[in-house]
Amino acid sequence: LSDRLTAVFQRIGNKGRLTEQDVDEAMREVRRALLEADVNYKVVRDFVSAVRERAVGEEVLKALTPAQQVISIVRDELIKILGEERVPLQLAQVPPTIVMVVGLQGSGKTTHVAKIANLLKKEGRRPLMVAADVYRPAAIDQLQTLGGQIDVPVYSEGTKANPVDIAKNAVKLARDRGYTVVLIDTAGRLQIDEPMMQEVERIAEAVKPHEILLVADAMTGQEAVNVAQEFHRRLALTGLVLTKMDGDARGGAALSIRSVVGVPIKYIGTGERIDAVEPFYPDRLASRILGMGDVLTLIERAQAEITEEESRALEEKVLAGQFNFEDFLNQLQQIKRMGPLTQLLEMIPGIGQALRQQQVQISDDEFKHIEAMIFSMTPEERRNPDILKPSRRKRIAAGSGTSVAQVNQLVNQFKQMQKMMAQFGELAGGTGGRRGLR
Ligand code: GDP
Ligand code: MG
Repeated sequence: LSDRLTAVFQRIGNKGRLTEQDVDEAMREVRRALLEADVNYKVVRDFVSAVRERAVGEEVLKALTPAQQVISIVRDELIKILGEERVPLQLAQVPPTIVMVVGLQGSGKTTHVAKIANLLKKEGRRPLMVAADVYRPAAIDQLQTLGGQIDVPVYSEGTKANPVDIAKNAVKLARDRGYTVVLIDTAGRLQIDEPMMQEVERIAEAVKPHEILLVADAMTGQEAVNVAQEFHRRLALTGLVLTKMDGDARGGAALSIRSVVGVPIKYIGTGERIDAVEPFYPDRLASRILGMGDVLTLIERAQAEITEEESRALEEKVLAGQFNFEDFLNQLQQIKRMGPLTQLLEMIPGIGQALRQQQVQISDDEFKHIEAMIFSMTPEERRNPDILKPSRRKRIAAGSGTSVAQVNQLVNQFKQMQKMMAQFGELAGGTGGRRGLR
């Protein structure tokens, strides 16, 4: 989805002024891109007409940078669809907060119970996980293994007990022992069926959860929307967890599900690892969909590794389009300590898109090459990549044991990234002396 939209904007970006016809043409492309990304057709229809209405307005057609105006309108409208504001997990006035997860088999319930427990634990809370999926012994083992990894206890009564009793007993235990959040993992089926629905209804009735979160697989697109509607009808969901947002279809499902079901997305799952989960921020996903990467999430992760001061300086540089090879090298080295490489690179504006366009998977080996190339640059060259003339590139290739073609590729990708970062900075309101658009 991101790649398609970026292509549309690149095309109109080359025009000095836009006519109504240009806007129409761009919106046709946007419409097609959204439909191909499996966004619900009603959502697409409303979205396109909202954008179009604003985009053909006088200011945009007469503006000096109409393409950016259109992007900024598209971004605003995407944020509207995605829910405007982040809605965090609602914690009970009097603990324990009871959170129940529901969803189809394989959607990621068990994994996300553990991921969320891990987040809560890091916030200083005392989570207890509950194995109320009794149909497969493996499900209980899975939760216990995850619990071991994150050092969070699991309440289980084996496979013979009744899920409703398990849930009730777990809540009682939490009260007695001072656990502050109870996360109940329930059983799913491959499709919605009556016994499953009745079971989760009975558990919900018995323990009156503060949060009922539907875990939905973003890769299943429209199907996820139907499933969510049905669960919402039966259970009155309080939130959504969209998993497998690391897959291709990610943006599309989020747009449809939030807007059709009308329940806030609270978390997104972005991989198999226990830390591959993020609180959901509508504006960040909108930027990611628009191919601007997700600088803020990246910066947030980096904060765990670097001081606040360093990170503020970085944020300003990024938004002002002044990010250079030295910063890049710094980031790469910090990133190495932060998690799987491709997932993090995806968040850097331009890079993720460039990687996907060229279908490149960066292995840790290639990563070493990139690092070696930057090491072979002089400080002057790192700060000012524009001076990298062919003779210098040849020297860098020789110094780093790579080829001139590899150096060229790095420099080109880097320049593209700089450009997109500057664009992001303008949309974000332009710190660093640039004037914002809105
Ligand atoms: P459940 O049946 O709903 O409990 O689903 P599980 O938690 O057992 O997850 C099913 C599979 O999906 C497992 O192999 C998980 O590792 C995988 N999975 C869960 N969440 C994500 C995610 O966000 N991204 C990716 N790539 N895989 C995920
Ligand atoms: Mg499970």
